[in-house]
Amino acid sequence: MANMFYEKDCDLGKLDGKKIAIIGYGSQGHAHALNLKESGCDVCVGLRAGSKNWAAAEKAGLQVKTVAEAAKWGDIVMILVNDEVQAEVYKKEIASNLEAGNTLMFAHGFNIHYKQIVPPKDVDVVMIAPKGPGHTVRSTYVNGKGVPCLIAVEQNPTGKAYDVGLAYAAGIGGARGGVMETTFDDETETDLFGEQAVLCGGVVELMKMGFETLVEAGYAPENAYFECIHEMKLIIDLINKGGVAMMNYSISDTAEYGEYVSGPRILPYDETKKNMKAVLTDIQNGKFAGKWIAENKNGRTFFNSSRAILAKHPMETVGAELRRNMLWGDDTDPDTASN
Ligand code: NAD
Ligand code: MG
Repeated sequence: MANMFYEKDCDLGKLDGKKIAIIGYGSQGHAHALNLKESGCDVCVGLRAGSKNWAAAEKAGLQVKTVAEAAKWGDIVMILVNDEVQAEVYKKEIASNLEAGNTLMFAHGFNIHYKQIVPPKDVDVVMIAPKGPGHTVRSTYVNGKGVPCLIAVEQNPTGKAYDVGLAYAAGIGGARGGVMETTFDDETETDLFGEQAVLCGGVVELMKMGFETLVEAGYAPENAYFECIHEMKLIIDLINKGGVAMMNYSISDTAEYGEYVSGPRILPYDETKKNMKAVLTDIQNGKFAGKWIAENKNGRTFFNSSRAILAKHPMETVGAELRRNMLWGDDTDPDTASN
């Protein structure tokens, strides 16, 4: 079983007198910066000169510096720019501004695990990875709750990496939900696997094929959208709240019987497991990371064309039309979240 930490295990006081530089003001960046500030921490945001986020961060009451200035200013430097640009930003603007005893932080292990960033031995390297989108990290904090986090320590020359990491987790509200101890290696590999096999890759493919099967059989695309896509959230919310048992309790016995007989036909056990293991192997041996790094160096041709093809898929166009009439803004919606 993994070690779990809660607010009682975290001492926010460990951040007293420490300057925290948050690099990036996107989904996670704005949430960490604002939550930490409201928890009483000394925060500054590091951005590119001319970034459109500069004014937004200042308007939210935060001090803003260039990335290099913020990294120099900070005792703690949390890198919250996109994973695929982190190595370059680190090399150009952060590395030379780190001092012995500083804490370099991440919200995902990719660049440390795959050695795209190799920090000096005299800085602590810590991960606090919220298990939810940044806008939820913000909205839950505002409501007195928090998104659970992972903590991992890669380097600990000061011996204080856990104290600082746990205090940071408390500062963003994560300790209210629980902080699970892991390693950079495990976090990176399980995170990539989860999003590829189940959460993003698996779910999108499943919904798309369900939608297409109904439409190709002559049913209305709107009908297919409701059945195979819209209802996904309602089902997942039940599982999230009370496990599969609560979902099964809430659906009809007919639906539950169909789950048992047809689920394994849709995802044949041996073949699906074999494919999942192959995806995991590519993550573990660095093949996936290598391809993604190369894709970014080569102008993202495959990535961009895949995104364009998906945007034209009827499940997206029909869905956009239907959603216009569904007023269901919630805390996972960046446009309606309080930030
Ligand atoms: P994001 O894309 O929402 O924001 C990234 C920010 O970095 C943007 O404000 C962008 O303008 C800025 N940026 C890009 N290039 C830059 C540069 N060269 N110099 C300065 N700023 C630059 O990213 P995010 O989703 O907040 O992800 C940040 C980190 O958090 C990543 O490591 C990610 O894996 C991790 N994470 C994200 C989530 C999530 O759900 N979004 C969850 C957990 C962890
Ligand atoms: Mg510094």
